[in-house]
Amino acid sequence: MTDSDPTTDAAGRPPSPEAAANHIRKAVAADVESGRVSGVVTRFPPEPNGHLHIGHAKSICLNFGLAAEFAGRCHLRFDDTNPVKEEQAFIDSILRDVRWLGFDWGDHLYYASDYFAQLADWAVHLIAAGKAYVDDRSADEVRATRGTLTEPGQESPNRDRSVAENLDLFARMRAGAFPDRSHVLRARIDMASGNMNLRDPVMYRILRAPHPRTGNAWCIYPMYDFAHGQSDAIEDITHSICTLEFEDHRPLYDWFLENLPVPARPRQIEFARLNLSYTVLSKRHLTRLVAEGHVDGWDDPRLPTLGGLRRRGVPPEAIRDFANRIGVARRDAVIELEYLEACIREHLNRVAARRMAVLHPLKVVIDNYPEGRTEQLDAVNNPEDAAAGSRQVPFSRELYIEADDFLEDPPKKFFRLAPGREVRMRYAYFLTCTGVVKDDSGNVTELHCTYDPDTRGGNAPYGRKVKATLHWVSAAEAIPATVRLYDRLFLSPRPGDSDGDFVADLNPDSVQTLSGCMLEPALADAAGTVQFERLGYFCPDPDSTPAAPVFNRTATLRDTWANLQKRA
Ligand code: ATP
Ligand code: MG
Repeated sequence: MTDSDPTTDAAGRPPSPEAAANHIRKAVAADVESGRVSGVVTRFPPEPNGHLHIGHAKSICLNFGLAAEFAGRCHLRFDDTNPVKEEQAFIDSILRDVRWLGFDWGDHLYYASDYFAQLADWAVHLIAAGKAYVDDRSADEVRATRGTLTEPGQESPNRDRSVAENLDLFARMRAGAFPDRSHVLRARIDMASGNMNLRDPVMYRILRAPHPRTGNAWCIYPMYDFAHGQSDAIEDITHSICTLEFEDHRPLYDWFLENLPVPARPRQIEFARLNLSYTVLSKRHLTRLVAEGHVDGWDDPRLPTLGGLRRRGVPPEAIRDFANRIGVARRDAVIELEYLEACIREHLNRVAARRMAVLHPLKVVIDNYPEGRTEQLDAVNNPEDAAAGSRQVPFSRELYIEADDFLEDPPKKFFRLAPGREVRMRYAYFLTCTGVVKDDSGNVTELHCTYDPDTRGGNAPYGRKVKATLHWVSAAEAIPATVRLYDRLFLSPRPGDSDGDFVADLNPDSVQTLSGCMLEPALADAAGTVQFERLGYFCPDPDSTPAAPVFNRTATLRDTWANLQKRA
């Protein structure tokens, strides 16, 4: 690895446009210019053994992005070679997630299992050429004789079987004559190779497990390395882009292509996988979080799965923007979670409708406002987008404000409501606090105020100033709701780094559920993510019903976490 294009600068800022000109793009452009390829064809190859996460989104954006940039195409291909862990439900979820992310594979949906017959024929081709053999030793023995990084492996006594015998044994493996795991087909390459992947790697194993697509048609299944490159070749993939852990597999990828009569010669190029702070991004770890009940299913809004991000209210545009901005590097790096959050806020700030909601309601009675009267006031939907227009919000004698917008005995820098103090109610009037009602234990339960009718719309008469503007909801029209406040799932920036078990680093307060929150009436029809003014971005949860709305917090307005950390 000679390139060192970091994904962000030292301050964690987005890369420069030059950094976006990454090594993969350059390689693809060079192949197009030199005429090595006539069109660009990429693929995204998920294994249907789990749900997609934001790391996959990076790969999806890269593959589909390159295809779009070079006017080529991108295939979606399921790498379904291990039926033990794969399920139709995962296939369905992956299709939905890629589509949701905004990509279209057109007619190019494929499955490695579509090629099982061709792959088996190619296995026979290698056997016939003396380049593959059946080993009938146990898997343990095969592993134990592979050698180490410093010692060569030992050649199997089965390595020099005759072609005829190998053809016969492989045919019987395929026909189901042997028990599971009793035989493997191995490529005959080099047991002394410095690259462990070339030490007679296993091509086929015997496995009786129903496959989501081929059912019980097969009892032998190809290994990833024997399936992937050939699948690429069959589909005429020009650039097979994968993560760095496959770099050492590339010589094997090329060896199969060189030794088989494949219709094309795809080129494998690697890039660094996405790692995010305060997050785990591996299907194995995510599966454990779900299985052990640390989260509430695959689409728990705290998970970095695409289903979780969708349920959290993160728009696909923000994820694509994030993926494009972090760029593509050849060195592993950890991207700060704040950076994803910044992309989410930036997008939502532009597009999210503003609404008013009170999370911790404190009742306010306006003593000089006529009883039984309700006026409709104009409220701007999005100050960043004039085309979003405005809506009407009801205002009446009884309102709710945020409990922490009032202090009976305010410290110096607290400018919000306090006894005798005047503040602006957003889009409405100026209000002055004239009285405080308390319960037996001294908690404030209600405020009395007066309003100034000359400040309608929240406009100050000449020369009058207030230091705070509060959001509010009219009590009579308010919709009670449940609101779930999500925080980071982990307390540690590198979960598991301290003692190896990432579960020990879970944040015990990663969700806080508030009930009795009060929403303005327009929130009855909220479809996507909105901004609750002064509070953050929120979206209706699938659990939400008109009678019992539930909203999830997508993001706070500012990076409150960083501030908290500084204070701590
Ligand atoms: P995981 O390691 O999370 O279990 P995987 O690599 O086993 O994921 P696959 O379904 O094989 O999952 O991945 C499909 C594609 O997505 C592969 O090309 C893989 O390299 C890519 N990919 C997976 N995780 C990441 C990541 N964190 N960043 C970038 N690309 C990724
Ligand atoms: Mg994989």
